[in-house]
Amino acid sequence: MSEVAPRLMPLFEITAGDWTVRAIDGGAIALDGGAMFGSVPRPMWERLIPPDGRHRIPLALRLLLLENERLGRRVLVDGGVGDKEDEAFRDRFGVDGAPLVQRLAAGGVEAESITDVIVTHLHFDHAGGLTRLAEDGSAVAVLPGARHHLQVSNRDNGLSPSVRERASYLRENIEPLLDGLLELSDGDGELFPGVRVERCDGHTVGMQTIRIEGGGVVVRYLADLAPTHHHLRIPFTMGYDICATTVMEEKQRMLDATVEEDAILVFEHDIQVAAARLVEEKGRWVPRPLEP
Ligand SMILES: [Zn+2]
Repeated sequence: MSEVAPRLMPLFEITAGDWTVRAIDGGAIALDGGAMFGSVPRPMWERLIPPDGRHRIPLALRLLLLENERLGRRVLVDGGVGDKEDEAFRDRFGVDGAPLVQRLAAGGVEAESITDVIVTHLHFDHAGGLTRLAEDGSAVAVLPGARHHLQVSNRDNGLSPSVRERASYLRENIEPLLDGLLELSDGDGELFPGVRVERCDGHTVGMQTIRIEGGGVVVRYLADLAPTHHHLRIPFTMGYDICATTVMEEKQRMLDATVEEDAILVFEHDIQVAAARLVEEKGRWVPRPLEP
């Protein structure tokens, strides 16, 4: 089906105080390379991530699991694409279509044990897996017992997207969550001791990145602020971003904070680098992948 060669996705486990932070393999997707690299010319990006015959580049769907025994919390971050969409959709985006429950099980996690979900934003490759089709064909939540944390502005944006974003916000990914499952934030804030969300509006209105801190370790999950480590370069924004200038400002702020606190950055869509620290080389800050 997909021409994208399957790659083994690097995973990791990090201890940050009471929190254990680990990656869950949420599958993969293939998106147009030009759209993923915005104004970066093809001769430059095709050396970084070679496209397939349909001009698509392979991208990971790297979910995060935050576990804190003392607080009794097991928090999933994002849900991948899921299995609701038809064959034409799966072919277009190179999706393998395994359900979220199966992906969690492969990581040794029982779906029922998830207490919370942080949804970075409702684009289909981040929220699609959180819902599934019931026998009657209607979409229902995969984790009805979990509280789903989202920015209120992203819910509103997802329910009435502009023409520009209509293909990314699908009603079947959103409506089942409206039935009492959402815990809405408005801006930056702490969800649990040591776990903060930070609102960004350049990729889409009301996306949230996540910052986990404990035991002197800081981990930042960047969602689509920098989908791969290549996108840490300030002008490397995506064609999908609603405002490149805002993304560049938000990225600069995030990079300044990362240098300041020596944070570990986690890339949701990077098939090569799961997580990295920034190190200075010849006067520039460059990502150094975390050793597995
Ligand atoms: Zn997105």
